[in-house]
Amino acid sequence: MLDLTKQLKELKKLKNNLEKKDEILIVSDLDDTIFCRKEQLEDNELLRNNRWADWIRVILEQIWIENFIEKYYKWKSFPKTITDKMISWKDLILTAWEINLQTSKIKALNLENINHSIVWDWEKKPFELVRYVVEDLAYIPSKIIIYEDRPEYFIENKRLIEDFLWTTLEIILVEMIDNNSEAQIKRVA
Ligand SMILES: [Mg+2]
Repeated sequence: MLDLTKQLKELKKLKNNLEKKDEILIVSDLDDTIFCRKEQLEDNELLRNNRWADWIRVILEQIWIENFIEKYYKWKSFPKTITDKMISWKDLILTAWEINLQTSKIKALNLENINHSIVWDWEKKPFELVRYVVEDLAYIPSKIIIYEDRPEYFIENKRLIEDFLWTTLEIILVEMIDNNSEAQIKRVA
């Protein structure tokens, strides 16, 4: 496991100089939070059988990013439950996996105008969230709302992030059925 406390030390000096604003920051995951992967998993056996460890390799080497994006992302509709709440210059799409793949998805879904950060694995999301606030946003919002279909890393580090930033974290679990229905959302922490 990554030692978040240790990582946060490098941001401490910068953080201490930041202004606090009475404002909400929305941070949302992409896959299965904004856009549901059910269709691609049902449609393609290769994807279905390589859902986790080999997912990236299968897309990069067997399906190709261009084909994958063209078929499953371009011109696709999806529920705007979360994205409609987001303000492009301030709020953040925080997604994990391969950078070209995730960037291509964001472009194809027309979400490019919203700030986005891509990290290699899920474990790195809590640090990237704090880094984004301290270095890019450059002020401390009074509340951060996180939308995630896999919120465990944020739940685990909630207190640590709150104490470091002197803010409140609200963690929302998102469960998508498909891209035609509103997602189910539930506050979990
Ligand atoms: Mg996800």
